[in-house]
Amino acid sequence: MIIKNVHIFDGGPITNRSDIHISEAGIITAITESGTEEYGPDVVNGEGMLALPGLTDAHRHVWQAPFKGVASDMMLLEYLDKVAGNIASQISAEELYYINLYGYIQCALAGIATVFDWSHIMNSAEHADAAAQAALDSGLNVLFLHATSAIEREKYWNHSITRHDRYIEALVKKFGNMTPNVRIGMGMRGPEFAVMDVNRADIELARALQIPASMHIGCSLLGKINKPVMQLAEHGLLTETLNLVHCNTLSQEEMTLVGKAGCLVTITPEAEMQTGLGEPAARFMADVPGLKWSVGTDIPTSSTDSLLFQQRLLLQYYRSLVNHRVLENMEFPVQIPYASNQFFFDSMENANAYADLNTSAHIAVGSKACFSLFKWDAFSNEVFLRNPAFYYLQEACIDTIVINGKLARHRGEWLFHDLENIAMRVGDIAARIMRTI
Ligand SMILES: [Zn+2]
Repeated sequence: MIIKNVHIFDGGPITNRSDIHISEAGIITAITESGTEEYGPDVVNGEGMLALPGLTDAHRHVWQAPFKGVASDMMLLEYLDKVAGNIASQISAEELYYINLYGYIQCALAGIATVFDWSHIMNSAEHADAAAQAALDSGLNVLFLHATSAIEREKYWNHSITRHDRYIEALVKKFGNMTPNVRIGMGMRGPEFAVMDVNRADIELARALQIPASMHIGCSLLGKINKPVMQLAEHGLLTETLNLVHCNTLSQEEMTLVGKAGCLVTITPEAEMQTGLGEPAARFMADVPGLKWSVGTDIPTSSTDSLLFQQRLLLQYYRSLVNHRVLENMEFPVQIPYASNQFFFDSMENANAYADLNTSAHIAVGSKACFSLFKWDAFSNEVFLRNPAFYYLQEACIDTIVINGKLARHRGEWLFHDLENIAMRVGDIAARIMRTI
């Protein structure tokens, strides 16, 4: 396939029109200046469009997609009880398939081509199979993190002495090598929620299966009380295979250890600020050299689908923090703390490396062809051409979406699945459950 005549967003001033050449396998083979070749069946005219690289959301509970807004005024404990507990426990395996498929499509419509799906609705083996199958059928790149059941949450999340469900071994066997687009990982509890023997066993299981392991950590008071990173380090368990989500209330000493170990940190600014997890971990981005950080949306029940918004929120929060420090020193802030487009690319590069799904933060030869085409009319003026800050782009302007070399959406129409039917089905499920809570 060739996408012709597009302007490519690479962080600098927008220049010439380009043609993006894509192989059968979905890899970008060449990017050339637009010529005058004939059009054929495999040629898409991107005239008037800006190509933005496919985004990487490094932490999202995809199954919450049909319940938008339900937790927008909830603090952490209420959210855990009503959403992660009550709602999640009422969803059957068959329903989960459609709910997850719908959730992945919602990601794609927001320009996201790669998502870390932290699935804590593994209520049975059938639920795990259904959710992973949806990941496979979605066409997106998914790091599918098999986590806990939503039934009997107390048993899994309060000083738990229960190890990770061994069904993950079967899941890795079934889905681990089916496609280059889906990888199975472990969504483990970590020291704030499970005893150390359990954490050791879980991490050892993940290592034996050669899969990544992700945990929520540094959450609210739990981070302050438990010193979770110190615990992991003391037991020799802090390694680069870990993805540490949130990190709000870790100490400077702990974050230095995280930086040295090379773990991937994921910050989900909106959910953290709302639910009382603590300040987003921007201070560690500023103070720990080489920290591998990334951004996620977290809970669709209170955050919108927009990863561009989450990136923007964290960028400005980071700038505010650094500027504030300068002021505290009785100096005048004169240097921009982080250039916006550099921040945009950095926010995804570490996540892509961790996921190991051959996705790139850039539209580049050799990587999977993942990008969204934004209608150009809305912002094709000389000023924006020279200063194309990423956060002026609005998802509503996405016309065409290419994921792994295939047209997922074209001229506003979703092509991978019967979206209308899926949305209706999922709407009925959500309505049924909402009547019970
Ligand atoms: Zn989460």
